Amino acid sequence: MKKGMLILSGVLGLSLIALVLLIMVYIGKNEIARNNSGSDGTEQTAELTDEQESTTRAAVTLVTLPKDIELPDWAEEFKTTITEDYLPVNEYSRPGKELKKVNAVVIHYVGNPGTTAAQNRSYFENIIETGEAYVSSHFIVGLDGEIIQCVPLDEISYASNERNDDTIAVESCHPDETGAYNKATYESLVKLTAYLCILYNLNPDKDVIRHYDVTGKECPKYFVDYENEWNLFKAQVKRQMSEK
Ligand SMILES: [Zn+2]
Repeated sequence: MKKGMLILSGVLGLSLIALVLLIMVYIGKNEIARNNSGSDGTEQTAELTDEQESTTRAAVTLVTLPKDIELPDWAEEFKTTITEDYLPVNEYSRPGKELKKVNAVVIHYVGNPGTTAAQNRSYFENIIETGEAYVSSHFIVGLDGEIIQCVPLDEISYASNERNDDTIAVESCHPDETGAYNKATYESLVKLTAYLCILYNLNPDKDVIRHYDVTGKECPKYFVDYENEWNLFKAQVKRQMSEK
């Protein structure tokens, strides 16, 4: 009987010690957890959320959306003049397909004398109903130098045939059949092209091309008819790029 009591109390004593040890380990773990989370629990949650968000962003961030590019003052100001009026995603003018890389800017002319940027954008939207063509562009430069962006830079537009997959397309309005530009359109076209070249680290000498250079189509007519004017345009783009 005495021996039995001794064993029982021994077991109880050991159990008690084990329990105390377990509690101490538990408290210790919690302490470490608290230290890791910092003084403010909410902040930790916020940090985690930010981290998760940035992971999500990283997964969808496209190479065609350059970041951390330092723009010259003129370009910072210029980009605020662009009107973003995106087409709805549709099979005819905004397929919603990812533009994975940008190797060039392709210049076009609308081929419809006297029409405005807004009218040409409407055309891109109307073909959703008519289904008469697959056509669009990222930008349209209008007769007053206004610029409408129809397609985001991280998506392809339907303008430059086999180069849709690696270029940004720029349409330009013109007063008459010759396709010659008025001063306002020309100046905006130079600035927009220079802005895009800075954004994508492109060289106007080889990375600014005409639709004509892709397919042989007479587009943009004025720059196809007058090669010297085309070269002058690229020189103007280059000069604009070097402005502060
Ligand atoms: Zn064209």
